[in-house]
Amino acid sequence: MRVLAFDFDGVLCDSSREVFVVAVDTFSVLEPRAELLGVLGPLREEALAGGDRFRNHEAYRRFSDLLPLGNRAEDFGVALRAIEASKAISDQAGYDAFYAELPATWRDLFHRGFYEARTRLREADPDRWLALHLPYPELVGALERHRGGVLPSVATAKDSRSVRLLLAELGLTGVFETHLILDKETGIEKTVHLRELQRRTAVDFDDITFVDDKLNHLIKVEPLGVRCVLAGWGFNTDRERVAARRLGLEVAQLDDLDRTVFKGV
Ligand SMILES: [Mg+2]
Repeated sequence: MRVLAFDFDGVLCDSSREVFVVAVDTFSVLEPRAELLGVLGPLREEALAGGDRFRNHEAYRRFSDLLPLGNRAEDFGVALRAIEASKAISDQAGYDAFYAELPATWRDLFHRGFYEARTRLREADPDRWLALHLPYPELVGALERHRGGVLPSVATAKDSRSVRLLLAELGLTGVFETHLILDKETGIEKTVHLRELQRRTAVDFDDITFVDDKLNHLIKVEPLGVRCVLAGWGFNTDRERVAARRLGLEVAQLDDLDRTVFKGV
């Protein structure tokens, strides 16, 4: 049976509001005097209240344009520092250079602070925290339609508690077998998740499809022989979609899931 491995944020779950709120909270602790906070504060409030107008603001646009170039929690902070400094960054090399300019201690503090801010937000009001995450209904529908025909799994860097709570919130309880939900504990790199998934399911790598919204994750996993698909509905831009096609990777959208992600099942 074909195994489908899904990344969580930006693939199974639209967590763009939550990530933005937590990133701003972390930034405000580390950079309390940043001018940018004057702009971010009201946008954060709007996102927290479930609004959408914050997405049209130039600061948020720049933030979401930089996210695909990062990998981990500290990258949300790196993106906000770049916006604060009005740094023009258009590609991976430019981003990597800016990343390297920032002190490693600051990046580490942001990384830790991000998870602390997330825990604070979740513990303070669990229902409001859950409500910041939205399902992608087309994907939920496709998973239901193909139930029994594929072996769906999760390959994420998120913690297991958040993943369990959110799968229930997104209407995905029971879709994934417990031993096929691979979280933060599995490892940092997605190659570790995919290797472990291959071991647990005993299927060949070329019978596994990996769906992630980060091109840099797909590029690392592809040499395993896994079929890699970029989730065009997640945290990426035309820059990544064009680059993915140039590398021979498929780019899926929510309206073509049967032709792309679920092809041949
Ligand atoms: Mg993702």
